[in-house]
Amino acid sequence: MGAGESGCGAALLGLKQGYDVFLSEGAVLKERYRNELEGWGVPYESEGHDPARILAANIIVKSPGIPDTNPVVVRAREEGIPVISEIEFGGWHTDAVKVIISGTNGKTTTTALTHAVLKTGGLNVGLAGNIGNSFARMVAEEQHDYYVLEVSSFQLDGMFDFHAHISVLTNITPDHLDRYNYDVDRYAASKFRLGRNQTSADYFVYCADDPLTLQYMEQQKLDAQRIPISLERQISMGAWSDGQQLHFQLNNNPFDMNIQELALRGRHNAYNSMAAAVVGGLLDIRKEKIRDCLANFQNLEHRLEFVARVRGVEYINDSKATNVNSAWYALESMDKPVVWIAGGVDKGNDYKDIRPLVNSKVRIIVALGTDNRKIHEAFRKDVDMIINTSSMEEAVHVASGLALPGEAVLLSPACASFDLFSNYEERGRLFKESVRNL
Ligand code: ADP
Repeated sequence: MGAGESGCGAALLGLKQGYDVFLSEGAVLKERYRNELEGWGVPYESEGHDPARILAANIIVKSPGIPDTNPVVVRAREEGIPVISEIEFGGWHTDAVKVIISGTNGKTTTTALTHAVLKTGGLNVGLAGNIGNSFARMVAEEQHDYYVLEVSSFQLDGMFDFHAHISVLTNITPDHLDRYNYDVDRYAASKFRLGRNQTSADYFVYCADDPLTLQYMEQQKLDAQRIPISLERQISMGAWSDGQQLHFQLNNNPFDMNIQELALRGRHNAYNSMAAAVVGGLLDIRKEKIRDCLANFQNLEHRLEFVARVRGVEYINDSKATNVNSAWYALESMDKPVVWIAGGVDKGNDYKDIRPLVNSKVRIIVALGTDNRKIHEAFRKDVDMIINTSSMEEAVHVASGLALPGEAVLLSPACASFDLFSNYEERGRLFKESVRNL
């Protein structure tokens, strides 16, 4: 069910494994995927799910975008048909060693860093999941000894027998609560599915500075060895920092790295880099290789990405910040007064914790969304001015008119993008385009 990257990847893997495959898409099928399915000879339907055909299946691979409340999914479960995610399905068909990475924020960055560390270390490693190609497609088309996979909580919900040698939980903060009945317990429980099926020969890497992770970890049955990372306290097995050096204490291979050497700046990226290094260390990658990789990593697009300096003002694209916590880290890493472009589709945001930071770092908010009321209510006492805009071009134009030399214009919306843009990538690209036209 669902004909995006994960559904089509699952269709291809199913076909290769000798399943009788049928693909059902509720919306209009994208041309690229239609062409693929036709090329493979996979029968499909679009613009609706036919219950009769779907409920005749032995297994349903459901795309993460389709909620559990979908009536056909509900009926399938009632009838005892397994409904799994494409990551689970991929896992059934490969013996490769799997590293899976999830968490509210930092997934893509940590996944990309970890993949780079393992690759630099000479492993035959594939990168898949929410980042790039689907895992099922990779399993169908390529042969790897290791996989580094970025998984969302929606994918975790459809994972049952999947076995990860190393799981990384970056952090837990409330997000996507609309899909979890506004219940943080359920969202957190979903994240801890990372540790399912792990044994004492496996590892669970987590951030020991994250209160929700610690709180929920106590209630979990985790058989894996727990490996904490921390920027706040000393750790005997894992990674920590004294403020200058990062210390990695793993197996018999301890090593240090100067925090200033990290290619990715900001406290959040120190965590992401530490997690990647820890995975590298656990898989016996040489410390020189790990250091080299973390020091030379190229930042990903839309994540605190420097765009340009125009008339003394720095423009930064953090369009990927689709929730309050990621915007918090973006603001925290700013070392000059900020004109903050924020807003969009609010997924149940609570702005309380970010207010002190906004108060100290932000001078002006340029609100960019179809409904900016919550931004006004939350921050009107914290900044000099809040201005409504309704297109990216307008937002950049307004921001550039108000920013003073020495300040930064930061797009870090704290919200999803679907009111005005098709996705965060489009939002980020339009920001960059508008900045370059200044
Ligand atoms: P994800 O894939 O989980 O959405 P990304 O790696 O794409 O995460 O980063 C998205 C945004 O989240 C970044 O632009 C940054 O502002 C913020 N971020 C990244 N890593 C972390 C982290 N470890 N903790 C909190 N926020 C983070």
